[in-house]
Formats: sequence, structure tokens, C-alpha cells
Amino acid sequence: QAKSMGRNTLCFFDPAMQSAMTANARTGSDLRSGLRRGEFLLYYQPQVDRAGVITGVEALLRWNHPERGLIPPSEFIPVAEDTGLILPLGQWALETACAQLAAWARRPETANLSIAVNVSVRQFRHPDFVDLVMACIRNSGIRPQRLKLELTESLLADRMEITIQKMGMLKALGVTLSLDDFGVGYSSLSVLKRLPLDQLKIDKAFVADVLTDPNDAAISRAIIALAQSLSLQVVAEGVETVEQRDFLTYQGCDQFQGYLFSKPLPIEQLDALLANPMAGMVVM
Ligand code: C2E
Ligand code: MG
Ligand code: MG
Ligand code: MG
Repeated sequence: QAKSMGRNTLCFFDPAMQSAMTANARTGSDLRSGLRRGEFLLYYQPQVDRAGVITGVEALLRWNHPERGLIPPSEFIPVAEDTGLILPLGQWALETACAQLAAWARRPETANLSIAVNVSVRQFRHPDFVDLVMACIRNSGIRPQRLKLELTESLLADRMEITIQKMGMLKALGVTLSLDDFGVGYSSLSVLKRLPLDQLKIDKAFVADVLTDPNDAAISRAIIALAQSLSLQVVAEGVETVEQRDFLTYQGCDQFQGYLFSKPLPIEQLDALLANPMAGMVVM
């Protein structure tokens, strides 16, 4: 008892640990005030079909920090998850995406676009999550299929039954469900076929080396074949070159997302691209 207490005390006063904790706490309260001051925004990255036509976008959070400038999610999502701030932040992202869908619904040229919103495990597990999604759909008046929720494979690590049940409730609302970063986790075929999914996203780590690493080529091929046999749509993320796109197209991939087509864009730039798609499209 005394020994473990002693170890804890020692640990607490470890200078490296102490400064890490302070940095973390600072970012946490920084995050909270950032939310209050409305410093977060969504960037949107186009997703294109096999013909190169934009069918939708993925919404990606950015933090426009008054001193530090634009901060990518890798620098604040982990803190948001640890502190629970991912809940209000995720809710804000969901509401903002739905408001954008509602704005697009008013013009026939943009009425069929979808927005994919990333959902962290902690958000998904929250007892009010289904109600939140329902309220967002109802308040914005959007067609639910236009809203795509990107879930991660780590959801499938445990509590399978409740996860499947909750996914079923989301499907019952009419939303589209996608499994993000597919291939890096452990989902087995038998698990996958029980999930009410619409789409798999091939992780960009496989796409990156699809032409140079035979293993990554084989994995990408297998994911596409798996998706096809389960009647799921398959999207490749992180497509940067024409050669990667061509390889994936040949294998039967349905949709593509990556710097080859467009980086994530602020809404004004995305709307400009949608108004004149040929201007922004580098490749056909
Ligand atoms: P993700 O959902 O897998 O998103 C794809 C990431 O790949 C994005 O990074 C995107 O900018 C990047 N990307 C797209 N095309 C390319 C490409 O051609 N090459 C390369 N190298 N990268 C590309 P980003 O925007 O930094 O987001 C990172 C992660 O942060 C996301 O990964 C997602 O897991 C998380 N995230 C972003 N927004 C949210 C959010 O609203 N809620 C939650 N829970 N997580 C979010
Ligand atoms: Mg995603
Ligand atoms: Mg992804
Ligand atoms: Mg990824």
C-alpha cells in the first residue's frame, strides 16, 4: 500500500510528466474557450465517383487558433477525446454539416451531395447519440441519406451486440453508415457481415503504397472484393496520383478522395469548385 502510494507520488512529481500534464490541461481549457469563441470550422474534401464527378464531401475539423493559426485535428482530437470535449465539438460538427446540407438542398445542382461526418468512439457510445443525430436531421430538415456517419473499426473491439444495435437504430433514421480507415483494425468477416453498413473506406496507408508494395496492393484488392461481396460501396482515401486512381479503378473501387482531386477546402472555396467543377478538377 505504502509502496504503491510512494510510487504514485514519485510519478506525480516526475518533471517530464508534470510538464506534459500541464501542457495537456492548458490545451484542454484552450479547447473549451476555443469552442466558446467559435474558433472551430469545417473544411470539406470532395469525394468523386468513377467518372470524376463530385458526389459528396468529408467534413474535417480545423481549429482557427488566434495565436497558433490553423490547427489540424491530430493536434486537438486526442485532447478532446481525453477531456470529453469531443462531445460538444462533435455535436457542433454534426449540426454544422446538417446546416450545410440544408443550404445545398435549396439548389438542384447541389441537392444530391452528401456530407460524411467523423464520429469518435466516445461520441458513438454516448447514450444520447442516436437522439442527437435524430434532432440534427429534424432541425435541419435534410434528407437523412445525405448524412453519412464515418465510424472507426476500433468500435468493433468490444461490446459488439450494443454496437450493432445502435448502428441499427442509426440506419432506422435513414442515415448512411461508413467504416473509416478500414483494414488497419481487426474486424473479421463474420463481424463485418452482421453490421448494417453502407460503405467501407480503404485506409490511406494502403493507398499510399498500392503501386510499390505488393502487400498493400493485395490488401486493397481484398478490401474491394470484400466490399463487393457484401454489397458495400467502397471508397479509397488518400488518393494522390493518377496511377493510384487507375489501379483502384481497375480493381473496382467506387469512389475516391484525395489530394489528386482536391485538398480539404473551406466552404467558400468548395462552393466555388461546385459552381465550376472543371476549373478545380486537375485530372480526368
Ligand atoms: P480521416 O477521417 O481518416 O480523414 C482523412 C484524413 O486524410 C484527413 O486528415 C485528410 O485531410 C487527409 N487526406 C485526404 N486526402 C489525402 C491525401 O491525398 N494524402 C494525404 N496524405 N492525406 C490526405 P485531417 O483533416 O488531418 O484529419 C485527420 C483525422 O482527424 C481524420 O482522419 C479523423 O479521424 C479526425 N477528424 C477530423 N475531423 C473530425 C471530426 O469532426 N470528428 C472526429 N471525431 N474526428 C475528426
Ligand atoms: Mg474520415
Ligand atoms: Mg479515413
Ligand atoms: Mg485515416
